[in-house]
Amino acid sequence: MESNIILALDVEDREKALKIAGSVSGYVAAYKVGYPLLLNYGVEVIRDVANLGTVIVDIKIADIPDVSRNIARILTDRGATGVIIQGFVGRDVMREVRKEAKNLYVVAEMSHPGNADFISESSEKIAMMAKEEKADGIVAPATHPERISVLKRISGLKVLSPGVGTQGGSYKEAVERGADYLIIGRTITMSSDPKQKIKELLSQR
Ligand code: C5P
Repeated sequence: MESNIILALDVEDREKALKIAGSVSGYVAAYKVGYPLLLNYGVEVIRDVANLGTVIVDIKIADIPDVSRNIARILTDRGATGVIIQGFVGRDVMREVRKEAKNLYVVAEMSHPGNADFISESSEKIAMMAKEEKADGIVAPATHPERISVLKRISGLKVLSPGVGTQGGSYKEAVERGADYLIIGRTITMSSDPKQKIKELLSQR
């Protein structure tokens, strides 16, 4: 059965990141590259990871439409297959990024407590808008698994769900609530045997 785990490579050292990524090749659906590697090594690091598998770049783009589209193009040119943007920036940003990203993923709701301050009251609207703008998926938290099913039903899109393990979310519950992919970082990258850890997680489904 295909893996539903997206490995968040939030490791600051490139060699370490590539070693972990290589060791779990075939056991993950994609690699997520974010600020830690990008800020240390620049966008070319995307290519290094893309040589090992599918890359989703997560810098939660949240700029004006024109700038956001150009950012998406730069990332795509370096080998990113997917790009994650913030949903709260609105429809025009989704539409412009869509033009450059092969796969567009929209953050509908976040996993941290501050999500309740602003985002949560708009998350259902974001999910609906992501559907209308033909995004490939939304990001919704495994730390609030009940939100996965609600936002999936509203959007009808694939749900990518972070928050399993270190942040307290349960792999099994997120899957049961309809998460299509689990974005998992430290639980795997800080394990002494990342491949074994992934096997353990996958055996729960
Ligand atoms: O290490 P951990 O498994 O907690 O990593 C979760 C990953 O998912 C991080 O890369 C984080 O940036 C990302 N993420 C998140 N919550 C969101 C969106 C993305 O934790 N709402």
